[in-house]
Amino acid sequence: MVTAPPAPTSSPGDLVVARPEGLYCPPGDFYIDPWRPVDRAVITHAHSDHARVGHGHYLAHVDSAGTLRTRLGEIALQTLAYGEAVVHHGVRVSLHPAGHVLGSAQVRLEHGGRVWVASGDYKTEPDGTCTPFEPVPCDTFITESTFGLPIYRWPTQAALFAEINDWWRLNAEQGRASVLLCYAFGKAQRILHGVDPAIGPIVVHGAVEPLNAVYRAAGVPLPPTLRVTDPGVDAALLGRALVLAPPSAQGTPWLRRFGNYSDAFASGWMQLRGTRRRRGVDRGFVMSDHADWPGLQQAIAGTGAERVFVTHGSVAVLVRWLTENGLEAQGFKTEYGDEDSEPVAATAP
Ligand SMILES: [Zn+2]
Ligand SMILES: [Zn+2]
Repeated sequence: MVTAPPAPTSSPGDLVVARPEGLYCPPGDFYIDPWRPVDRAVITHAHSDHARVGHGHYLAHVDSAGTLRTRLGEIALQTLAYGEAVVHHGVRVSLHPAGHVLGSAQVRLEHGGRVWVASGDYKTEPDGTCTPFEPVPCDTFITESTFGLPIYRWPTQAALFAEINDWWRLNAEQGRASVLLCYAFGKAQRILHGVDPAIGPIVVHGAVEPLNAVYRAAGVPLPPTLRVTDPGVDAALLGRALVLAPPSAQGTPWLRRFGNYSDAFASGWMQLRGTRRRRGVDRGFVMSDHADWPGLQQAIAGTGAERVFVTHGSVAVLVRWLTENGLEAQGFKTEYGDEDSEPVAATAP
């Protein structure tokens, strides 16, 4: 057992500090992904734990506008393209691709000769549905650590979709619907973009289609999708269909219409046998919008940062690993969760 190193305190001149409302930039007087209502919020992406209701002003990437307004209604929103900058109280703020979901951004802050980057959530492997992650050189990097344990190593996109296609094809040959439970924003669109639509029709839950519309409007090619209420959607069609539904649909009457279906769950947590068992599904596909353990290391190294703050997930493990590798590292206490609502303190299978 290695004990966690003592956490260094924040230094004068830090561009981001932890406050009860969220991560705060003192010279700029704004917050990044705050969890309590504030006047000015820079939002890394539209997942509900990072983009909350009640802020006075929002700044986000232009491709987040659709999902933010879908979720939060009318908000005072200023948008930026990737690489575009605004200067606020002398702090230069720009957004850079995080490869997590549509419109997801890392926030680069420059002030007094210092550069800090707050990653938000990120994924290092490109998936075709959002601009790929780009390392942004900085002195200090604020990273997530949702899957910051050495056991988390994702299959490649190609291997993942070969598995999903094989499962769907086999079910379709046997006249059985393939119900794939996945988070409605991000994962569902990645699955749509990655599967082989020649296998059969694709049916989506009502919670998924509005997000598909936002992705299509942003120019992300997705195959045609049907709703169960559409004309022509009958038992014969459903027997060949891939059905995408949010995890909350599990065990609801909505699923009964699919009869004797096969079900599966797509999540990074599926790497753990215990999670798969608890979910009670036929199959688990290891698929995440977050960096895996090698991805986190690669991303952190790519920034060249000497100082690293770790926000959410396996904070202590990643802080210890970084410290052992010669970086100055510490945790930031945040209230971010995870889209898939699984306990983060997962143990090895
Ligand atoms: Zn997220
Ligand atoms: Zn997050």
